[in-house]
Amino acid sequence: MMRPVPFCLALAVLTAPAGLAAQQPDARATVAVGTASARRGQVAYGAIRVPAGVDSATDLPIAVVNGTRPGPVVALVAGSHGTEYTSIVALTRIIGQLDPRTISGTVIVAPLLNVASFTQMTVHLNPVDGKGMNGQYPGDPAGTQTQRALAAVADQVVKPADVVIDLHGGDLDEDLRPYSYWFRGGQPAQDSASRALALAFGLDHIIVRDFDLGDAASRRNLGGYAMSLGKTVLVAEAGRSGTVEPEDLRLLTDGVLNVLGGLRMIDRAVRPVEHPVWLDASTRLAADSAGMFFAMVGRGATVAAGAVLGYTTDYLGRRTGEVRSPTAGVVTFIRGVPSMWKGATLAVIGRVLVEVPPYRKPGS
Ligand SMILES: [Zn+2]
Repeated sequence: MMRPVPFCLALAVLTAPAGLAAQQPDARATVAVGTASARRGQVAYGAIRVPAGVDSATDLPIAVVNGTRPGPVVALVAGSHGTEYTSIVALTRIIGQLDPRTISGTVIVAPLLNVASFTQMTVHLNPVDGKGMNGQYPGDPAGTQTQRALAAVADQVVKPADVVIDLHGGDLDEDLRPYSYWFRGGQPAQDSASRALALAFGLDHIIVRDFDLGDAASRRNLGGYAMSLGKTVLVAEAGRSGTVEPEDLRLLTDGVLNVLGGLRMIDRAVRPVEHPVWLDASTRLAADSAGMFFAMVGRGATVAAGAVLGYTTDYLGRRTGEVRSPTAGVVTFIRGVPSMWKGATLAVIGRVLVEVPPYRKPGS
């Protein structure tokens, strides 16, 4: 067994020096997010109420755990994809594991952004307006439900936070191997803080993804948007195919606690991942037509270039093709159901990076 080592994360955004903070009134004596308002030492439960506009209203469930002592503000978000159950359930479980009397700082928990996706079991999108709830930041208070909800999340959850953790899981159609992302925007201090967060979280496969934050398209997902505001960001995924497995849940809840331990917000020894498998997971295989897909390898499989990943048929069971991996690597996820539409993701292959290259602006 390896011994935990003392470990502390640095934030990209520095909070006020302690001496200065001591002379000023406590800005977080009460933290209110939507109807959840917590004084120091309290947990509050409530919702961000998004009123009806061009379409129906929605309530986003929110918990605020406001620690007795000052410290960083961490936002925990899940459920932009409402059928990625493991990540959603993980955050509901985390709330009860955080004792505000012993925490330094504040944790804002938003476990289910896309309530309509959850209740109607609609994958990937908000069925109310057909939009993706991880692709419309910074939202629009005058837009459709997704845009109105995300405008509220941007203002009330993302902006007050120093650290934003966005949890996902394999969706109903995704057989996924747990991994986290190291998002890089080319700002050295922010990128190194995010790297430390990913290592502290504890998943041993980490996908390296570079963003051009000057490009609005890079700021439409929660991670890119939060990075553009200077936040330290971590995105992690565990869970698959609609199941909520205890082991996948544990990976996410332990990961969150590890980050809070690394930030010295809770008393927890953290052992960062020593030898992560860094991946470039930009190889996505998409279906060129509708039909049925049958996987022949499982999540996490290591494959050679040209390896058969699965096969496709028409709706009468006649074979229409084979799906081969264009590169050697790790199957980070593979389609877990037969449903296949033109453009559907069949698999994503992560090429193992022997050495992590320096940041490179996409398209340059
Ligand atoms: Zn997701």
